[in-house]
Amino acid sequence: MSSLPIRVYGDPVLNTAASEVEEIDGRIAQLADLMIETMYAAPGVGLAANQIGVQKRLFVYDKGDGPVVVINPLIVESEGEWTYEEGCLSVPGLSWEITRPNAIHLKGYDLDGNEIEVETDEFEGRIFQHEMDHLNGVLLIERLDPDQRRAAKKLLRQRNVEIARSDPDGLHLLLGE
Ligand code: ZN
Repeated sequence: MSSLPIRVYGDPVLNTAASEVEEIDGRIAQLADLMIETMYAAPGVGLAANQIGVQKRLFVYDKGDGPVVVINPLIVESEGEWTYEEGCLSVPGLSWEITRPNAIHLKGYDLDGNEIEVETDEFEGRIFQHEMDHLNGVLLIERLDPDQRRAAKKLLRQRNVEIARSDPDGLHLLLGE
């Protein structure tokens, strides 16, 4: 098992909504393992599949007590407001104070196909919202106010972003697509 390069700002895969996982099988388990390895290697606290170029609706996270895989996640309820300094592995080295709902009720599936349900807030709730955004093709840049966003985009444009042209990760082999 090894880690994969994380796609960064400018890569169109990050602006594309991922599609539902239709069958939770061995390939999805392999993908989840790769995502967990990649998240820890970064290191980060969450990673969505499209951040390694796979357009499937699943994310992994670790809020400090071990890795968790969530497949086909859905936020069914959110409440309140919380401001927290948020960064992203796909926008390395930058972070912003971002206000989002605080309490989150999330539903999804685990690797065994069992439905999971989590009601949480603050840090874990923030991870859920951040990863859901990724799966919907939304980067945290879009959550900034217009002035912050302009400044961030200017900064990011100056970076030399190398966009993968084909599938250097060979994930099409793993995932059969
Ligand atoms: Zn992110």
